Amino acid sequence: MIAQRSRERHFSGATIFSTKIRCGECGGWFGSKVWHSTDQYRRVIWRCNAKYDGKANKCKTPHVTEEEVKAAFVRAINKLIADRSTLLADLREVQQMYGGTDELGQHLREVDERLNTEADAVQALIARNARVAQNQDDYSAAYDAAVSRYEATKAERDQVASDIRRRGIRRREFERFIDELKKLPEAVSEFDEALWGSLVEYVTVRKDKTMVFTLLGGTEISA
Ligand SMILES: [Zn+2]
Repeated sequence: MIAQRSRERHFSGATIFSTKIRCGECGGWFGSKVWHSTDQYRRVIWRCNAKYDGKANKCKTPHVTEEEVKAAFVRAINKLIADRSTLLADLREVQQMYGGTDELGQHLREVDERLNTEADAVQALIARNARVAQNQDDYSAAYDAAVSRYEATKAERDQVASDIRRRGIRRREFERFIDELKKLPEAVSEFDEALWGSLVEYVTVRKDKTMVFTLLGGTEISA
């Protein structure tokens, strides 16, 4: 009974599969449903949330049971282990590429310089207007143009800075994946929740029920 209760607790809210199983057809997330909740045939299935939303073109992706997801994950991990040395070599090559954020950094410095120049231009216009009597319509037009140039450059700067941040996050995930890959045992025989948690970004279920695991750092493996 204790085991039963702890199982129920586990499935009462978010589980390790929540927002981890994705539909290969419509791109939506799978949601869970308990079948035979009161008898010994009880099992948890995951299906596309768009499947039963009442719309005419319901999604055709089949449901999967948790056992199927777990079994596919074990197969995927064993494939990963079998390909480990080749994969590690490939990953190290990609890692070199991630190292080169120089280009983006240089772009950021260039945009920063432009931003400073444009901010100075706005200040200069304001200062001049305070000093010199001039047509205020002309001044307004010049001021608005200078400010919108500045704002466009500011938006460009924010974009470049966010690209750099994103790339840094990607790079760290990638490095973490390489570490995890090195730590994997020689074979995995059963589903391991910790491995799932540390390796899986999400799994995509295809129409033919095959599953593609997208792992930390972007490596994909089908099972
Ligand atoms: Zn779907």
